[in-house]
Amino acid sequence: MIKKDPALTDAVYVKGVGEKRAKLLAKLGIHTAYDLAVYYPRGYIDFNNTVTVADAEQDEYCVVKARVVQKLSPYYGKISIFKAIVSDNTGDMLITFFNTAYSFQRLTVGEEYCFYGKIGGNFIRREMNSPIFVPAKSSHILMARYSLTQGLSHNIISSCVKNALEQFSFTEPLSENFLAEHRLAGFADSLRMIHFPKSKEEYDTAKRRLTFEELFLLQIGLKSMRNRRRTLTSAQMVQKDISAYYSSLPFELTGAQKRAISECCADMCGVSPMSRLLQGDVGSGKTAVAAGACYFAYLNGMQSTLMAPTEILAAQHYQTLKSFLEPLGVKIELLTGSMSAAEKKEIRGRIADGTVDIAVGTQALIQKSTRFSSLGLVITDEQHRFGVGQRAALSQKGKDPHTLFMSATPIPRTLGMMIYGDLDISILDEMPKGRLPVKTYGVDGSFHERLYRFILKYAQRGFQSYIVCPLVEEGISEKASAVHYIDMLKTTCLKNLPIGLLHGKMRQSEKDEVMRAFKNGEIAVLVSTTVIEVGVDVPNAVVMIIENAEQFGLSQLHQLRGRVGRGKEQSHCILVTDSKSEFTKARIDTMVRTTDGFEIANEDLKLRGPGDYFGNRQHGLPALKIADLYADLDILEETKNAAQKLLKDDPMLNDPDNSGIKAMTEKMFENSMRS
Ligand code: ADP
Ligand code: MG
Repeated sequence: MIKKDPALTDAVYVKGVGEKRAKLLAKLGIHTAYDLAVYYPRGYIDFNNTVTVADAEQDEYCVVKARVVQKLSPYYGKISIFKAIVSDNTGDMLITFFNTAYSFQRLTVGEEYCFYGKIGGNFIRREMNSPIFVPAKSSHILMARYSLTQGLSHNIISSCVKNALEQFSFTEPLSENFLAEHRLAGFADSLRMIHFPKSKEEYDTAKRRLTFEELFLLQIGLKSMRNRRRTLTSAQMVQKDISAYYSSLPFELTGAQKRAISECCADMCGVSPMSRLLQGDVGSGKTAVAAGACYFAYLNGMQSTLMAPTEILAAQHYQTLKSFLEPLGVKIELLTGSMSAAEKKEIRGRIADGTVDIAVGTQALIQKSTRFSSLGLVITDEQHRFGVGQRAALSQKGKDPHTLFMSATPIPRTLGMMIYGDLDISILDEMPKGRLPVKTYGVDGSFHERLYRFILKYAQRGFQSYIVCPLVEEGISEKASAVHYIDMLKTTCLKNLPIGLLHGKMRQSEKDEVMRAFKNGEIAVLVSTTVIEVGVDVPNAVVMIIENAEQFGLSQLHQLRGRVGRGKEQSHCILVTDSKSEFTKARIDTMVRTTDGFEIANEDLKLRGPGDYFGNRQHGLPALKIADLYADLDILEETKNAAQKLLKDDPMLNDPDNSGIKAMTEKMFENSMRS
């Protein structure tokens, strides 16, 4: 059989796939045979790690090793039910399958198996529904678990992967020397071992090879970007006196803010364009730094643009920059997608002819029709919400403008240096003076009446509150749950207060109106979903109640809490949950104990494990399939050195030995440009 290039072969040609499954695989981002082979497991069931029936914990997933003692007669109906009783010397467990006669038939009375599933039932008898199982003597120790989609089970994905690995040959992208130097296993072998490890050692070997490759390519890509940038010539500026800005502010900037502004100004006077990350916890005052940098560009006769991920944020930045800079003669305009076509056209006209000095807006800024006359500085706020591609698109609006990225995601510095390999970093490690740390409490639902009275008391003194509504329950829309909540509030002591509603499904103009009214103090209590999570700044709001707090991640809670504690009045954040789980308790305790974003991020990692925290969405880097930037820190370090060395010897990757690396890096970053 002729072996075709798996990357150029549609998944539909893999044995066992077919039209219908190909469509489902596409939903998982799998389009080719190659995609299937690199669809790495998201975890493994370790069939070695067994517990006894008696020790199996309710509601936990575990592996129970037990013997089939009886198969009950099946029930055939609309849903067919197959039950069996299994037992070890500590107790019995009832196993149930729904509609899957096949699994049931594989069980033989008297034989021993390892069953994996979630434990249900009661004290008298444990139960497990639809377990995954292998014969106890099976050599299959680690079984891959994949992210699934409706209609594709583990078994289906696993067998499709197996067929793809057998049908195609997978070319080694790394040179033999490179593999030897870094003690890496071959690509094809690693694919087999990552999907079907025969031992823990095989898994480790494959995981290291594939992680190494991925992080290495990431470093190569980032470093190449940085090198390319160094060869660019910037819109070079000259030193100017910006003290007028300092004295026009209603507050004294912190030392950290001043330092960050100076760093930006120095960069912008450089020959190559600035590429700087401004990192600061919620409330550290990043906007004032951005405004300072914009003012510097203005004094140099250059335009600036500030892009925010949501319209609410863009509108807020527009207001802030206006209040800081308009008195100094700077002209600022807002450009967002929800404006009328006529408005947008008019504003774009004034951006293009240079009347506008600072254009604040959303993604509308990166559309083709936006042109600048002399763009010198590009700033993106909450930059992790944008992909590398969107950032790049904005930069292309000028001739290699200076760029500043702002982020509240706390990343340990060493890690930040590595993943933002192409950026310089300024950190705001100092909070504005006079801030009182938000007092935080964890309570259960029985406190509601008291909480509402608490809000009322503050409202009577002229202060405002947020209530962050329960997250969307399954089947209930975000809107319904927030609306329902407001109806309920009308039966409480808050019924006479002006209450506002904000949720993601509202029209932009409605959202803007609500935010404007809240900022102006026309609304006393804002019931909101997590749309207020990023960036919103209303210093007069001093109470935040977060319902169903167990549903939020620690970092998300921290971001939400950052909406209060922005003024001089003592603020309070109350986390409401009826959950009794240890995990929730630990998280609430962390929130109560500290308001330090870095500490919370570390705690989050400890409690939750790395996983999503440094996931793609957090930093706008290309999606990583297997590496975990935090957990694989040692490999990250190793690849950093390897990348440096390789690029030193062969900066353009022209050596035939490096052609595989070149192609793969381009592929990795090309995909992220589309995100
Ligand atoms: P973030 O870093 O979360 O984006 P913001 O830029 O929204 O923070 O600033 C938070 C609040 O602190 C705003 O109301 C801002 O006006 C205020 N602020 C910023 N810098 C200072 C300062 N040096 N002193 C007092 N208040 C400040
Ligand atoms: Mg902000």
